[in-house]
Amino acid sequence: MATLGNPKNTIEILNKYKFVMQKKFGQNFLIDTHVLEKIINSADLTKDDFVLEIGPGIGTMTQYLAEAAREVVAVEIDTKLIPILEDTLSDYDNVTIINQDVLKLDIKKLAEERNGGKPIKVVANLPYYITTPIIMGLFESHVPIDSITIMVQKEVADRMKVGPGTKDYGALSLAVQYYADPYIVANVPPNCFMPRPNVGSAVIRLTRHKEVPVKVDDESLMFKIIRASFNQRRKTLVNGLNNSPEIHLSKELIAEALEEAGFLANIRGEALTLEQFAELSNIISRKMK
Ligand code: SAM
Repeated sequence: MATLGNPKNTIEILNKYKFVMQKKFGQNFLIDTHVLEKIINSADLTKDDFVLEIGPGIGTMTQYLAEAAREVVAVEIDTKLIPILEDTLSDYDNVTIINQDVLKLDIKKLAEERNGGKPIKVVANLPYYITTPIIMGLFESHVPIDSITIMVQKEVADRMKVGPGTKDYGALSLAVQYYADPYIVANVPPNCFMPRPNVGSAVIRLTRHKEVPVKVDDESLMFKIIRASFNQRRKTLVNGLNNSPEIHLSKELIAEALEEAGFLANIRGEALTLEQFAELSNIISRKMK
């Protein structure tokens, strides 16, 4: 039985191990069973599933995951949490703890070895300081993924969902929507965590597209163009692309490509949809050959 998701039991474990929470690791532990159940339900787990949990903390959500899935691998950076996890998860024989920085872990290889290369599910209450690199890393390294169900800062969840013409629209919105269908499951207030974060949170489920929604000849070029467009938000697309450290295109080539795509010369990146970025990237890719 999962037992940790309340303030009393969490404090008991923290005291037993004299554990001091570390801000630098984004440690805000969940203490609300309703929220935990909501996450587990929206992750839609079955006994066939292999789950990767990022940052298990003291194992609060890990217990729920172990009960719902076939196998759970939980990656935790903080060495001081490992003896605690060995204690709180001792009843489960389908959980493996890896003491490592998730950004340094070869998740594709892990999915290959532990799940025969079949799509995995990622479920996590993420450390907020590295939300974007974690999500981008999962998608861009082409880990076989079915879905990612995560707690993130509310503002970041909103950014993943929005389209052009809104202030939150950016490279993260486009990347997430290229790979997945985002759905906000619930908003979660600070009092559901210990200690309370300074920001509101939200659970978001990213369901991987079976097929990408737009045809792109060179995915990596498209994302370089997208990043260049939003790096300099107040600049026109021509200037953004021209000043990019990642791609080296002449102003003439960019101007020709924009004209061919039917955009005004002074258009800004934030006005373009994913389809339009794909089209522009395909034109630029042809012109670069
Ligand atoms: N899952 C627990 C819960 O819901 O109560 C803890 C969530 S807490 C927001 C984030 C966790 O991620 C912490 O346990 C923290 O130590 C861990 N963490 C932070 N950076 C990490 C990294 N780079 N790799 C793996 N785990 C990390």
